[in-house]
Amino acid sequence: MLIGPGGVGKGTIARRLTERDPKLWLSRSWTTRAKRESETGDEYVFVDRETFEQAIDEGRFLEWAQFHGNLYGTPVPTDTGGADVLLEIEVQGAEQVRRHYDDVVIFLIVPPSMDQLEARLRGRGDTEDHVQRRLHSTANEMRIGERLATHVIVNDDVERATGEILSILEMLRRDRRSLA
Ligand code: 5GP
Repeated sequence: MLIGPGGVGKGTIARRLTERDPKLWLSRSWTTRAKRESETGDEYVFVDRETFEQAIDEGRFLEWAQFHGNLYGTPVPTDTGGADVLLEIEVQGAEQVRRHYDDVVIFLIVPPSMDQLEARLRGRGDTEDHVQRRLHSTANEMRIGERLATHVIVNDDVERATGEILSILEMLRRDRRSLA
């Protein structure tokens, strides 16, 4: 799992990881949040609240959480072709997943500085009110994230951070093979 405050670059790292590592399978979440103008529509399955709540009732989520008034959820993974499942989620969801699986690897992605994080949040085109609310939840995401994380990765450069995660995954896979 990739966790960390909004705007830290988890989404970009997640995409780069799957481009560089064919043994990773990136889960596509559902959300009730409105699509941003900068988004193509592939980022999430965008649904209304009623559709999301029905999916909860039908047990279709591995985890789900409310974040800034919107619901986000990971569908139970299917057809992964034996790949390792990659989730890019917030901390409440990560806690739920961790409770169900004992072999999870959790990367907390942190910004090189708080100024840079603020600049990135503004650059996404969200409203000022939205940016402020996201900045407020940053401390919480970091605090819980540090408790959950098995690894902390500084996103000073996307390629470098992606490379660091891939090396750790390769090491863990070697251990897993030797234990099998
Ligand atoms: P955003 O609205 O910026 O796309 O996402 C807000 C937060 O929700 C981010 O921290 C993102 O990682 C998280 N998120 C995205 N998908 C899921 C999901 O399926 N479950 C949970 N719990 N969080 C998610």
